[in-house]
Amino acid sequence: MALANDFAATLVEKDRIAQRVHELGVQIAKDLQRSIAATPPGQEPHIVIIAVMTGAMVFVADLIREMPIKLRIELVAVSSYPGTSVESKGVKMKSALPDNLAGSHVLLIDDILDSGQTLHTLIDLIHAAKPATLRTCVLLRKPGKAKLPVNPEYVGFDIPDEFVVGYGLDYDGLYRNHPAIAILRR
Ligand code: 5GP
Ligand code: MG
Repeated sequence: MALANDFAATLVEKDRIAQRVHELGVQIAKDLQRSIAATPPGQEPHIVIIAVMTGAMVFVADLIREMPIKLRIELVAVSSYPGTSVESKGVKMKSALPDNLAGSHVLLIDDILDSGQTLHTLIDLIHAAKPATLRTCVLLRKPGKAKLPVNPEYVGFDIPDEFVVGYGLDYDGLYRNHPAIAILRR
């Protein structure tokens, strides 16, 4: 079954995503390296990426390959749009935070910043674990939608307030494998 009929429009083409992911990777690696260089003598610097599953899986897979630095990857599972809903139902942690974040340089990565609930919750939890630095990166942001103060250091694209799928983002588990960001036909 072809996917294309299910989309009303393409918002971000595959090539534009690749170009932007490359730019983000270069910038983030540079910033993390600067943090590592500032580590006090006698301390072992660590970079930990925390990827929010499942939506960020495709983005993270591409982004980490644009970052030629030593890092660990950890996953957290969170759900806010269970099943066929397109409205946020509140944040549910479905896995524990990785341990040993104290003193690490943490990069939190999610697919999209919408109401801000997901990232706000995670940022609070990660802060409590006392990392040396915490930065946040999202592929997409819907400007003006955030109900909570979340200001990611890195944003791939600002998009209009539409429900989008593709490049890891789903509707009821579908469309994550679509290589572009598309608006779902309703
Ligand atoms: P927030 O907690 O900021 O409201 O929402 C963030 C989460 O909701 C994202 O991690 C993503 O899983 C989901 N989400 C928000 N907007 C969209 C959208 O337009 N499409 C899809 N597929 N998921 C979305
Ligand atoms: Mg998500």
